[in-house]
Amino acid sequence: MKISKRASGVSPSLTLAITAKAAKLKKEGVDVVSFGAGEPDFDTPEFIRDAAKEALDKGITRYTDASGTPDLRKAIAASIKKNQGLEYDFSQIIVSNGAKHSLSNAIEATVEAGEEVIIPAPYWLTYPELVKLSDGVVVVAETADAGYKLTPDILKKYITEKTRAVIINNPNNPSGVVYSKAEIFALAAELEKHPDIYIISDEIYDELCYGERAVSIATYSEAIKERTILVNGVSKSYAMTGWRIGYTASALPLAKAMGSIQSHATSNPNSMAQYAALAAYTDPRGDVFLAEMNKIFSARRDLMAGIVKDAGLSIIQPDGAFYVMINVGQFFGKQYNGRKITCAQDIAELLLDDVNVAVVPCESFGAADFIRLSYATSDAQIKKGLERILTFFNKLK
Ligand code: PLP
Repeated sequence: MKISKRASGVSPSLTLAITAKAAKLKKEGVDVVSFGAGEPDFDTPEFIRDAAKEALDKGITRYTDASGTPDLRKAIAASIKKNQGLEYDFSQIIVSNGAKHSLSNAIEATVEAGEEVIIPAPYWLTYPELVKLSDGVVVVAETADAGYKLTPDILKKYITEKTRAVIINNPNNPSGVVYSKAEIFALAAELEKHPDIYIISDEIYDELCYGERAVSIATYSEAIKERTILVNGVSKSYAMTGWRIGYTASALPLAKAMGSIQSHATSNPNSMAQYAALAAYTDPRGDVFLAEMNKIFSARRDLMAGIVKDAGLSIIQPDGAFYVMINVGQFFGKQYNGRKITCAQDIAELLLDDVNVAVVPCESFGAADFIRLSYATSDAQIKKGLERILTFFNKLK
């Protein structure tokens, strides 16, 4: 059976595979601690769930505009204005089936076959696959020497005549790093010199910063804003991962192009979910929820990062999102029960099979020496899981 070259080149999501295996073991009654989650462990707030029920009762069950309802798009524009001070007309907002779909539209609308997309490592594993699906060329920018952040000097090294876009993920998954305003503006200043390069700015974790809120690169200048496709959504901020609502904000010609692609690929995102997302952005209880969730994640970040650092392990300092990356390179070459450990994947497999802790190995995140632990779980689970991991590391010879 012939499968297209494009489809065969795409790797399945490793994160989903690990989470699925952990869920299977749990179902079989095994006491698994899962640090694999890429989603908040909170329920979607009640007022948002109520809005969805209201949508059903009101008969909001038909097609909407393919790019999302004007009401939701206006509410999103207002939320960007409130958080970043950026002005967008609702026609510049395209609501999609999750931020992943928004990213897919963005890449499809901008990248031609053979054009290069710069992706700073570590990166969210979906980016390279989306670039490959558009027949683009993935250019991984190494940032380990600069605190795992892209800098103008690093960026310069990777820009060629073929560069079409750079993807900036701030706060970052998997590292949790947050660029300061000065750092993000320095990148913007460099990118201003390259007017043909688009900036895909994935800001999906912007509500989960434990210091200053991450500043959008689009705030640097009108010229940069024109070339930035800002990506965000309700998945992480309002604990709405299953609802599938994300968006792009961009210059109008790009918005129109992405809207056209979407109109043929999927039509509108789910109408009830759009109505629920409207409540998330407009009901004052949304802000209360955000503040509460941020406080809890911030405390968990301190707890997890504190225990790991106290144990003498090396991590990337996480200032946002809900992940801690641990450098496990020092264990490569060691033995566990006669098995030689050669990579992060080996460690993740052993941790799950032998001490029942699910973590994500970061080979496919462009950080082969690391594992990623999500703290979207309770304090008790964090303590229990880390104790098991540290005991495991102590047994390595
Ligand atoms: N961008 C990053 C960096 C993510 O980590 C994720 C989800 O894990 C997404 C985008 C996708 O979000 P959504 O669930 O809205 O598609």
